[in-house]
Amino acid sequence: MEKKSYVLPPLPYGYRDLEPFISENQLKLHYEKHHDAYVKGANSILDKFEKARLEGAELDMKAELKALSFNVGGHILHSLFWENLAPDNKGGGKVGGRILDRIIREFGSFARFKSEFSLAAASVEGSGWAALVCAPETCQLMLMQVEKHNASLMPHADILLVLDVFEHAYYLDYKNERGGFIEAFWNIVNWEKVDERLARLDNPR
Ligand code: MN
Repeated sequence: MEKKSYVLPPLPYGYRDLEPFISENQLKLHYEKHHDAYVKGANSILDKFEKARLEGAELDMKAELKALSFNVGGHILHSLFWENLAPDNKGGGKVGGRILDRIIREFGSFARFKSEFSLAAASVEGSGWAALVCAPETCQLMLMQVEKHNASLMPHADILLVLDVFEHAYYLDYKNERGGFIEAFWNIVNWEKVDERLARLDNPR
């Protein structure tokens, strides 16, 4: 029985590089504590499965699978999230290329997309994410609002851009003002990465 483990990926920038939009303390806590907890959580559930298989023991399947989906989902979403941020002086917030053409064509304007995405993020009930996706089958651009890490997902939607609106993502910097965090986010979106993801989906290898 072979088991593979999840690994916390390196951050593609330093802890202070997203300031003043995300502070060093906020980023460090989010990455080292929260993301890492999902990685460890996923691995520990997989260990539990491995051990139970070796022993022929029964698992509380409903509870374990729910937790597995929550932790693996959390790890994947955070990995995408870190990648789609970029420091201000490294092109953060500057949109162009194919993704901009597609957004204008499909949403009517970049301003309309931004307001729809912001609203999706602002209205997540409790903890969750807003995402721009390439839709299953059509690759039409759609918005997806993820509750926690794993509810309201469209199966096989390819994520182009995600925003974490769990309170742990912004509380140190913005207290309970989620809107302030969402507004700040637009200054550090790595559109080059979003464009790269879209190009890969439009031209599958
Ligand atoms: Mn998070």
